[in-house]
Amino acid sequence: MPLKTPEQYEESLRKMNFKVYVMGEEVKNVVDHPIIRPSMNSVKMSYTLAQDPQYAELMTAKSSLTGNKINRFCHLHQSPEDLVKKVKMQRLMGQKTAACFQRCVGMDAINAVDSTTFEMDKKLGTEYHKRFRNFLLKMQEEDWTVDGAMTDVKGDRGLNPGKQADPDLFCRIVEKRKDGIVVRGCKAHQTGAVNSHWILVMPTLTMSKEDADFALSFVAPADAKGIFYILGRQSCDTRKLEGGQFDMGNKEFGGHEAMMIFDDLFVPWENVFMAGEFEFTGALVERFAGYHRQSYGGCKVGVGDVLIGAAALAADYNGANKASHVKDKLIEMMHLNETLYSCGIACSAEGHKTASGNYLIDLLLANVCKQNVTRFPYEIARLAEDIAGGLMVTMPSEKDLKHPVTGKYIEKYLRGIAAVPTEYRMRVLRLIENITLGTAAVGYRTESMHGAGSPQAQRIMIARQGNLEQKKALAKKIAGIPE
Ligand code: SF4
Ligand code: FE
Repeated sequence: MPLKTPEQYEESLRKMNFKVYVMGEEVKNVVDHPIIRPSMNSVKMSYTLAQDPQYAELMTAKSSLTGNKINRFCHLHQSPEDLVKKVKMQRLMGQKTAACFQRCVGMDAINAVDSTTFEMDKKLGTEYHKRFRNFLLKMQEEDWTVDGAMTDVKGDRGLNPGKQADPDLFCRIVEKRKDGIVVRGCKAHQTGAVNSHWILVMPTLTMSKEDADFALSFVAPADAKGIFYILGRQSCDTRKLEGGQFDMGNKEFGGHEAMMIFDDLFVPWENVFMAGEFEFTGALVERFAGYHRQSYGGCKVGVGDVLIGAAALAADYNGANKASHVKDKLIEMMHLNETLYSCGIACSAEGHKTASGNYLIDLLLANVCKQNVTRFPYEIARLAEDIAGGLMVTMPSEKDLKHPVTGKYIEKYLRGIAAVPTEYRMRVLRLIENITLGTAAVGYRTESMHGAGSPQAQRIMIARQGNLEQKKALAKKIAGIPE
């Protein structure tokens, strides 16, 4: 059954036994929890669209392992065209959810682990790649959502993993047993953790020999004994508890992040893909980060499409849509958004084959893509707020609009153009608020900054990949300076 229906996906989560804490309480029913549910709906969209013939080309792919039709989120990219389709799929998903739909981290992780374990086995004679492919086969056949988990909490940033006051600040192997390993540590900011079937763990940075115990990659069921989660807060998250229709801005969809704690988790050897091979941590981190930096050239662009549309509607409803400066701001927003998309497409089109057979993006262009993502969504959000006007942060609540005394005054005084009901104007302003300042701002703003690596991480990669010496040689030649 390579394609799960959205209903089957939801049911499969219900059968799991997650251990999750939300705002000081242990939550038993993850799927129906009002704060988590919208994030589940976003992942579910990846199953819904895969069933729709209209989107089959983007949402599904032919498995390189079985030849079966699978969800693209489970696919090993087989060509530059596949990489381009991935970005297009993410833009589509962003347009449909206006939120982080979470499933990409697993897709990016499997593609990075595939090529890295292949190279490890070739050099070291290990059997990590075989183990990984066994897992991948099941993932594709079961249409699992897998959470890629990379970011350790890192403690004192000036110290290496092994030098930390508390050795657990980087995930580590605390015991190697005959039948497997025991892992302790915490991964932070884990996108979509409790909407996932499995967790695919990777090291957070390039490790040296003395930090070999932190060179670690494995999979575990997301509800395994020894894993628990503490859900992260989002700005305005408790609006979801109010039971209204539109004060959330986006009632149906959202994202979530969580602390993922490994409390002496046992992992059998068959699920371990790296256990001490520090020399390969650099490649694994660089590839996963590269794929996820490519991803942002799709997902953020899709959310940007919704935000630009909302700003244009706000201008329509205010009667300001004919002002030349408003038109110009919308043009600027589209220009910035399409620039991000161009970078996502470019790093995909320039992708190349790895030794294991899947395709890797052009790392320089993927890093340029993500570096732009650390800036442009902020400018797009600024322009959206400019067009929306201050009312997006000062207007009364939905309950006031529906109140027998205050409602008619809000209806009367907050109206823009006569043809559009006040409620529509309020709805679109709430949507802008949601993406720029509310729950979705996690994904559109701060995640644009820090997700897939903070800006400095891309600058290091750009310095490494940019080939400055070649540029100097070009200049010398043109200027007539001898070598
Ligand atoms: Fe996917 Fe974007 Fe969310 Fe990353 S931030 S998981 S690429 S939607
Ligand atoms: Fe992300």
